Amino acid sequence: MHIIAPRYILSPETIHTGLAIAFDTKICAIDTPEILKKRYPNADFYEFDGVLLPTFANPHVHLEFSANRATLSYGDFIPWLYSVIKNREELLPRCDETCLQEAIHSMLHTGTTAIGQISSYGDELEVCAASPLQVRYFVEIIGSNAAAADVMYASFLERFHQAKKVENPRFKVGVAIHSPYSVHYILAKRALEIAKKYDTLVSVHFMESLAERQWLDNGTGEFAKFFDELLGQKRPVNDAMEFLELFSDVRTLFVHMIYANDIELARIKSYNAAVIHCPVSNRLLGNGVLDLERIAPLPWTLATDGLSSNYTLNMYEEMRAALFMHPDFNAVQIAKELIVRTTRVGHELLGFAGGVIKKEAPATFQLVTLPKDLANEDDIYLHLILHTQKPEVVYIEGERYGK
Ligand SMILES: [Zn+2]
Repeated sequence: MHIIAPRYILSPETIHTGLAIAFDTKICAIDTPEILKKRYPNADFYEFDGVLLPTFANPHVHLEFSANRATLSYGDFIPWLYSVIKNREELLPRCDETCLQEAIHSMLHTGTTAIGQISSYGDELEVCAASPLQVRYFVEIIGSNAAAADVMYASFLERFHQAKKVENPRFKVGVAIHSPYSVHYILAKRALEIAKKYDTLVSVHFMESLAERQWLDNGTGEFAKFFDELLGQKRPVNDAMEFLELFSDVRTLFVHMIYANDIELARIKSYNAAVIHCPVSNRLLGNGVLDLERIAPLPWTLATDGLSSNYTLNMYEEMRAALFMHPDFNAVQIAKELIVRTTRVGHELLGFAGGVIKKEAPATFQLVTLPKDLANEDDIYLHLILHTQKPEVVYIEGERYGK
């Protein structure tokens, strides 16, 4: 048994002072340090002059692209997509086991212990399954060409069952439908039948770019040239609303959503759905800013997206970006909301325990130092976001990572 007495505990919604936690793999008790020392006389006792808060969930990453630093073209979505296609044969093998381990290590040591990994190929399966993180492993299906549908479905199904074999309470399988512009209706339908059969969580990129909006609405815009050049395809393979209907009876994380129209939003709000907001990725690929007021009351949280469209997997960095990209919200208030969403809400959306500090919760949390001159306790959330590069220590089910 261990006892930690920090200056502050964030539950995450409430700021507590004068309390300590006693834990082994779970949080066994929360009380004053004196009471806990009496109750557990053999426990080691540790004071921390800072904040104890839950760890983050990052529900949308593409670890297979973790080798990218400056290979891909940023600025506009379609040139970026061309650059992914042009460079992926070179980028994917560069993300070997060492590269994957570095990406996982960087997340863990910046306070993230639960992730949603979008798996396009499956070579990262073993590393993910063996990592100390909680992993929701979304096996992705892609393919807009009806003639190739059987081949693409067979590949998806094989990767899905490979992942299912190593499923455990910390590693859960999900299904990712790439997007309405890139997955044929029949293919999406078949993959979602698998999601229903195994009762798994679903992820889909939806209305990320203006090009996607124009292509699906009118068969025009930058995607018209893209599909004609690469696939000889003259028309979109989906009607956006027909595609959406497929998600009516699964639990889905809709990723990006910047260009969703009012009819689509109303439909998604009637589903068991949530929104994943990736502000840095959206900024770098020229996709604008998600209107958070429009998506209410859907649950939402932040994600970094992959290193294919971000410079870091650090959630503190993503929260700083979100803070500055949503200037209509009071900084102190949105800072608290961001911490609550990236901890408790993110874990709930991925279907994992954690993200909260309470009795019986897993002893998974981070210890962060605050500026010494903090004057107003209510500003803790904001200063955590402004001043933290990484926590001092991260605990996962009582196991200590860091100093
Ligand atoms: Zn993505």
